[in-house]
Amino acid sequence: MELIHRINAAWRSTPYPGDHVLSDCWCDECEFSVSSLRGKSWSQLKIADTNSETSQLNSSAFLYYLPALLELSLRHPDEIHLPCLINGRFIRCDTAPSDGETEIRELLRRLSKVQKHVLSDYFDWLASQGWQPLLLIEPAKVALATGRVEPFSYDEMMRWCRNREREISAKQSGQPELRKKRDLHS
Ligand SMILES: [Zn+2]
Repeated sequence: MELIHRINAAWRSTPYPGDHVLSDCWCDECEFSVSSLRGKSWSQLKIADTNSETSQLNSSAFLYYLPALLELSLRHPDEIHLPCLINGRFIRCDTAPSDGETEIRELLRRLSKVQKHVLSDYFDWLASQGWQPLLLIEPAKVALATGRVEPFSYDEMMRWCRNREREISAKQSGQPELRKKRDLHS
């Protein structure tokens, strides 16, 4: 896959920076949360190493493992927690405190132009998969292209989720008529 080659080319020269980047705090709990990553270069990362803790990684650790997350996500499109781990770092909800913006800006500052381009193409691929709403993908692309952080609407996202749930349950109960009707209204 062409995008995977470009990921490797854009991040090739980043050696494992050392355990110190994994966490800003080394209390037992924080140490445990990064234990699956210790000493691991990004090319060694496996899906099993990613979990809800991955979304808590500090910026340095996230940036270091980002190429691995991208590659795993492309190779395993069915692992839908992976794009959320990536995308979630570049978007901010309009109900969240605005200090999240600082972190996004820091990430943007530390990514090279080539890396931003690869990421943006990854988000295009993600949009083509169709199970994550564009309202969560577009702001990430805007941030990469312009540096502007445009919060997405929490209400809009919830509306999308509810529609999606209805769609899925309509499919499962085999009621295509219901779905058609709703599509006409939307
Ligand atoms: Zn701690």
